[in-house]
Amino acid sequence: GKRINNAVNSALSNTEDDYATTVDVLLKTLVTALLEADVNIKLVSNLRNNLKETLMGNKGTGKSTSNAQTKKLIQKAVFDELCNLVDCESEQPFQPKKRKTNVIMFVGLQGSGKTTSCTKLAVYYSRRGFKVGLVCADTFRAGAFDQLKQNAIKAHIPFYGSYTETDPVKVAAEGIAKFKKEKFEVIIVDTSGRHHQEQALFQEMVEISNVVKPNQTIMVLDASIGQAAEQQSKAFKESADFGAILLTKMDGHAKGGGAISAVAATNTPIIFIGTGEHIHDLEKFSPKSFISKLLGIGDIESLLEQFQTVSNTDDAKATMENIQQGKFTLLDFKKQMQTIMKMGPLSNIASMIPGMGNMMNEVGEEEASKKMKKMIYVLDSMTKQELESDGRIFIDAPTRMVRVARGSGTSVFEVEMILMQQQMMARMAQSTRAAQQGGGMPSMPG
Ligand code: GDP
Ligand code: MG
Repeated sequence: GKRINNAVNSALSNTEDDYATTVDVLLKTLVTALLEADVNIKLVSNLRNNLKETLMGNKGTGKSTSNAQTKKLIQKAVFDELCNLVDCESEQPFQPKKRKTNVIMFVGLQGSGKTTSCTKLAVYYSRRGFKVGLVCADTFRAGAFDQLKQNAIKAHIPFYGSYTETDPVKVAAEGIAKFKKEKFEVIIVDTSGRHHQEQALFQEMVEISNVVKPNQTIMVLDASIGQAAEQQSKAFKESADFGAILLTKMDGHAKGGGAISAVAATNTPIIFIGTGEHIHDLEKFSPKSFISKLLGIGDIESLLEQFQTVSNTDDAKATMENIQQGKFTLLDFKKQMQTIMKMGPLSNIASMIPGMGNMMNEVGEEEASKKMKKMIYVLDSMTKQELESDGRIFIDAPTRMVRVARGSGTSVFEVEMILMQQQMMARMAQSTRAAQQGGGMPSMPG
């Protein structure tokens, strides 16, 4: 909250005693924020010590540079230190090879999102030109095969499983053999996450792993796991030496702080995040976005960064100024839409606007482009006063929506959808502004 920014500001005062005290205050506030986000206490304590060292080391240079620069330095130190916790760059990420058999095995507790994520990953590789098959080696839960089968059919992915065989090791072996014979390139094996006894589950993972010989094992972790992440990930690491973590349900309220413990306890990177129940709701993991969400900064910062690099027009500058003041009008929305159209709809920017990323994934580039053109028509039918407003003008007088819908040849529903998206952006702008002004957490460097 406000406390951190106050702390940063007073940390810039001149006497050394003051600096030391305020760095302490700053760190205490940061520690509280991280513990509230479920980050492991030992990790927080290490982070605190590292930061203290960095910040106290900067003390000397703080005087010779401007206050603004020193503040940036502190913000950057905090942010970088957090990113380091989840960034395992040393490891090369697994890349399946074309015309080879690549086996990927999923492990994780029941309900974490394995079956859903298996299908998502299958779609991901299938879209990149691989021949992908799914194997259901969960014979424990009734209906497990049906669930995978339904997902697979929906996604047009070939699958293998059995209604009668009770030995998961056998089903896994059969599935691998069948797909290998048919020259499949990526074979994804889904497993059970529950057993009569916990030890039996881990034993089963060892046995399946021994027969399928995975090129990569992925542990699926629910973002809301909290402090249990450390112990759980260690247990899975021992039985099925996984090389990557897939963090699911990042679309929910949980900030995923527990996942940091899993990364630290097993020295394994997070590679993907699940952002919804739909088969396309899978995103590459980005430490920067993850930490931004953890600290409640939101992705608007990276959105701004992108926006700044692609368009340096006066229009863009005006929008930037508005956003920095916590405003986001319909006109800003329209300008952004136009910029995106210029860049091609599959741009990064589009995916960062709430709702837009999904639209692209669901309907494809051409269809999305049509939809966006329609959105521009809607915005074109608004008056200057309406465009320059924060959008609430429509809520106060819904007949305006009817007029705009008629004028643009769309429906009231479509107008409402646009207003909803603009409102979401406006809220993001507001909270970013509040975070910067009131402190919140330090904003992103740069
Ligand atoms: P499994 O038991 O590990 O195989 O988990 P499932 O794949 O069956 O998923 C359990 C529940 O979590 C299902 O209702 C899924 O739709 C849901 N789920 C999985 N991943 C996500 C996600 O990224 N976001 C949301 N909101 N729900 C998810
Ligand atoms: Mg399952």
